[in-house]
Amino acid sequence: MSTPPPALRLKELRDLVRHHEERYYIHNAPEISDEEFDRLLHELEAIEAEYPDLVTADSPTQRVAGRPIQGFPTVEHLVPMLSLDNAYTDAELRAFDERVRKAAGLDVAAVSYVAELKIDGLSIALTYDDSRLVRGATRGDGVRGEDVTANVRTIRAIPLALRCGPPGRIEVRGEVYLPRASFARMNRDRETAGETLFQNPRNAAAGTMRNLDPALVSKRGLGSYLYQLVARPRSRPAAERSVGPAEDPFAPTHSETLRALASWGLPVEPHWKRCEGISQVAEFCQEWAEKRLALDFDTDGVVIKVDDLALRTRLGATAKFPRWATAFKFPAQQAHTRLRRIDVNVGRTGANTPFAVLEPVFVAGSTISMATLHNADDIARKDIREGDTVVIEKAGDVIPKVVAPVLNLRPPDSQPWKMPDTCKVCGSRLHRDEEEVVWRCENSSCPARLRRSLEHFASRSAMNIEGLGESLVDQLIEQGLVHDFADLYHLDASRLEDLVVAPRDPKSDRALPRKLGKVGRNVVEQIARSRNNDLSRLIYGLGIRHVGEKAAATLARHFRTLDRLMDASFEQLQTAPEVGPVVAESVRAFSDEPRNRALVDKLKAAGVTTTTSLPEPAAVDAGPLAGKTFVLTGTLPSMTREEATSSLEQLGAKVAGSVSRKTHYVVAGSDAGSKLDKARQLGVDVLDEEAFRSLIMKAHG
Ligand SMILES: [Zn+2]
Repeated sequence: MSTPPPALRLKELRDLVRHHEERYYIHNAPEISDEEFDRLLHELEAIEAEYPDLVTADSPTQRVAGRPIQGFPTVEHLVPMLSLDNAYTDAELRAFDERVRKAAGLDVAAVSYVAELKIDGLSIALTYDDSRLVRGATRGDGVRGEDVTANVRTIRAIPLALRCGPPGRIEVRGEVYLPRASFARMNRDRETAGETLFQNPRNAAAGTMRNLDPALVSKRGLGSYLYQLVARPRSRPAAERSVGPAEDPFAPTHSETLRALASWGLPVEPHWKRCEGISQVAEFCQEWAEKRLALDFDTDGVVIKVDDLALRTRLGATAKFPRWATAFKFPAQQAHTRLRRIDVNVGRTGANTPFAVLEPVFVAGSTISMATLHNADDIARKDIREGDTVVIEKAGDVIPKVVAPVLNLRPPDSQPWKMPDTCKVCGSRLHRDEEEVVWRCENSSCPARLRRSLEHFASRSAMNIEGLGESLVDQLIEQGLVHDFADLYHLDASRLEDLVVAPRDPKSDRALPRKLGKVGRNVVEQIARSRNNDLSRLIYGLGIRHVGEKAAATLARHFRTLDRLMDASFEQLQTAPEVGPVVAESVRAFSDEPRNRALVDKLKAAGVTTTTSLPEPAAVDAGPLAGKTFVLTGTLPSMTREEATSSLEQLGAKVAGSVSRKTHYVVAGSDAGSKLDKARQLGVDVLDEEAFRSLIMKAHG
């Protein structure tokens, strides 16, 4: 009997990869370089590719299943996940200790507690069968949660297989969180993409865990800490079951359980402490109220648990909370100050975002003079006004925010704040999509947007102007040579030759200044050539929101000229195949902005083609659902509106924005509103998600 060599090496590699994942993702102390780690992973992948029979679900290569999932089935927890009672003051902490000692009938002066940092994330429960991860579920309502196994598997801190874990089935509970650095990176990316920002790492973690694409989840850099071991309820006598989650049958104390979890390779937050008596607990809380700011994750308090598991069983639980634990909440880092005025910032996507200009105030180690107000809706909901005294709050590295106005300090002459209806930078009318909170400037030439707009205009799929890259765009704007797309067509070649640009060296990230020289002449030639591009490229290049390459081509084919497109009504726009209310609304907003009209006139005067030579769309609509009109309303349990729309459009159906007699079907999810009422009034067929899915399936044949 001999094990074949590949299997041996495979086992060795898996252990190595897991070891280094642990060093990196749990202990923050890598032993090898990223390249070295990648080399191990690649060797493992290579062997597995050669011997597919040897691939197992717990191999580190199998974290991402590859395909987006359909939805999250509901699962029941082995033992309900209770929440904890809260303590906010030292006195409340001592009262908790008092209750513990009284209920336990203890004469002793000090009970042993374990104090752990409370991670501000999303609660999860992991199930391991004979040391193999078989399920990950969210807390949900405590009794039932959602099965998020595919997403949990992508979290590198969580082992797919335990190192020397106990046999049989165990459930481990803890939190999934987003490290602050990942949060900052993610919001930067979202800002660049023009998407709404997440308000805090907890929302971002929760949003990520509910994403249906595990490949995307794996990129977000989620972390995890686990802190509770739950035994199978069947393995314990019924009498014990009524007193709340029983703990570790492997150790007599919680502190030993934590050590056991860590020794099995599970991530355990390392700063926990065993405290003798409540005074030590109070000191721990005091200490971390300040120190927590230096952690790389958000914590909003300390969880205090009785260490002795036998004592816990005696204490039991109320209907809502275990009696043997409480959560001490750190005092919020809040302060009062005066809101001098509400100002608006314009981002590179044209988003106009309000923010607070404050009377400077010192909070948690730094002076704050500005704070976020999120969006106009939020300001209206909280009725925050200029001149108000406001409560501001600082949480970790996150930008401070205005929590609420102090109403009894409000000046008598104050007025509700109104979002300006024009762009702070260029004065164009602001516009926002239905169901969106962000107000955007739709002026393609808005100076705040110009840099991004020009890069997009010149990009390969748009006007395809080679050589018109970032650094040249910067110079053209800086030197005042270009204020809109049309100015490009009046650039002077000799002027451009003398221009000094400073592209970044991708290796060192240093700017390398040089004269543009001959390249300048080439760029001017490229620009001149782009005059003859088809209208579809121009439409895409204009940067109309929601109009991608494909929609641009569709619009060009259908409307033939830019004038006809810009004059088309909301309804006429939707007669184009695959154009729904979102795109139609966006094209209207663009065309209604006089500055965009002026830009188009300038482009025409510069000789840019505004007609298409693409063939007209086929006269007869194709697809099994051709001629059918659908309206979507409410939230579908397992698909986004975009997904539903695109599957309908692929089958030739039209998706409209409002219900009328011409509507064939209304697809209604939860929280469906007036559209559903209207559908019922008009007797239009209403489909829930299941009926909708089966209709799509049937149409696919
Ligand atoms: Zn603007």
